[in-house]
Amino acid sequence: MAGHGLSIKKSELQDKYDVVVIGAGVGGLVSGAFLAKRGKKTLVVEQHNIPGGYCTSFKRGAYIFDSAVHHIGGCSKYSIVGRCLKELGIELEFFGLDPMDSLIFPSFSIDIPADIESYKSSLQRRYPAEKDNISRFFSEFIKLYRAIINESENSPTLQKYREQTYGVMLDSFFDDLELKTVLAGQWGYLGSPAYEVSSIGMCQMLVNYLRDGAWYPKGGTQNFANAFAKSLRDSGGDLLLSSKVKEIFLRDNKVAGVRLDGGEDVKAEYVVSNVDAKQTFSDLIKEEVDPAYMDRIRGMKESPSYFLLYLGLDPNVDLSNFKRGFYHSPNNQWKYVSAPTKVDPSLATKGRQEITVVATTEEKYDEVKDWKGLKDRLTKCTIRYLEDFVPNLERHIEVVDAATPKTLWRYTLNSKGAAYGWAVTLDQTGPGRLSNKTPVDNLYMAGHWTNPGPGVCAVVSSGWRVANMILENGR
Ligand SMILES: Cc1cc2nc3c(=O)[nH]c(=O)nc-3n(C[C@H](O)[C@H](O)[C@H](O)COP(=O)(O)OP(=O)(O)OC[C@H]3O[C@@H](n4cnc5c(N)ncnc54)[C@H](O)[C@@H]3O)c2cc1C
Repeated sequence: MAGHGLSIKKSELQDKYDVVVIGAGVGGLVSGAFLAKRGKKTLVVEQHNIPGGYCTSFKRGAYIFDSAVHHIGGCSKYSIVGRCLKELGIELEFFGLDPMDSLIFPSFSIDIPADIESYKSSLQRRYPAEKDNISRFFSEFIKLYRAIINESENSPTLQKYREQTYGVMLDSFFDDLELKTVLAGQWGYLGSPAYEVSSIGMCQMLVNYLRDGAWYPKGGTQNFANAFAKSLRDSGGDLLLSSKVKEIFLRDNKVAGVRLDGGEDVKAEYVVSNVDAKQTFSDLIKEEVDPAYMDRIRGMKESPSYFLLYLGLDPNVDLSNFKRGFYHSPNNQWKYVSAPTKVDPSLATKGRQEITVVATTEEKYDEVKDWKGLKDRLTKCTIRYLEDFVPNLERHIEVVDAATPKTLWRYTLNSKGAAYGWAVTLDQTGPGRLSNKTPVDNLYMAGHWTNPGPGVCAVVSSGWRVANMILENGR
């Protein structure tokens, strides 16, 4: 549905572009849109038949489902996504989500307001013995956030937290275990639990959501991706869908162009890779790249992948008490459950409702032999789990679909269906993450395998930053 009219045909390809972007994930689309707007002859090549990567939607009968992304940070007009949309002249409608999420634990639940001061006060009322520590924590968190945003490399705050996991940071402020569990309750957004995830990564993500709220693009997340694809096309850039790049060719360690799956060669002065870093350096480049860099990539660890469930429900289902957010179970297992039609009823016809679930899985990707069997088993278990929160759920189901890590891999080619590129651990955040500039001349990376990190807001920033780097070099 969504790719219609946005793609050029292979016969319309030019021999040579200033920039070829591999992958039409949000990071690639943003880079391409800025480069085209600033007059660079730009081509974005995407293997799927729609743009957006994880930020896509699909239709099943009366329902439009979002494939993966359920909300986006930084969309108000002064934040990164809002400013990016304005610069590109894109107008998009969003629903602001408040509470931004709820945290549901086996013995209690708590709503997280989309405003840092309200959140702070609600925590102070709930945990009066920790009142002053809560104030100190949020002041420090905001100070750290400013240091990250201003890239103040010499800031002692930034240097201190480079060495600390978020769990250690929380221990240094609080005694109350329940409070620490609440403040870590959204770790699923970065995929690594409190004592593994970088405090800097958590700060960047949480403060961004708490300062600016969480936003849902009207009509579904595909509309967000399509808006950048359209901007690229309106500025004279080309988007080629349903085509895979199978090689980046180099001359004297400098990019010279790309080869497509049909054998077509396209020359390019610059290449932006918006795709998996392992794929970029191990599969697409056939020449030898700096051995130290290759060793570093081989030693890095991907973020986890998930099981996803999509349910289309008849209009009689009662979701009035249903809460969107993280449903936690013991042993660091969680499910992110949402009902997108409660935010945007236009996603389904005639009052129908949707529930979607993102769930952790214990299976190791390389050990799964029967993906179909796993999908069926997890579908059944997850529906049974939801019955505790939505009585008689099964009776209301009109459409069921599901995705495993293998599905996520198939649609995006992220290694093992990694949700967030590299895991957001201490050694893979900030300078530990691969930088946008690579050891290959004129080859850049944009997206969640590079800086600043995962999430739509971060990859918008990454794509914009890479476009600026190329525009500055090109002067
Ligand atoms: C289940 C799930 C839920 C999430 N929820 C949220 C959320 O609510 N909010 C949020 O902000 N973030 C969320 N994220 C994270 C977020 O979606 C990602 O970090 C972000 O979208 C990644 O964008 P990207 O630009 O790096 O590229 P990707 O989305 O990874 O896209 C890369 C693109 O490159 C294409 N490609 C790959 N190889 C080739 C090739 N050789 N040739 C041509 N094309 C190629 C792929 O098909 C794909 O379209 C979620 C992720 C998952 C998996």
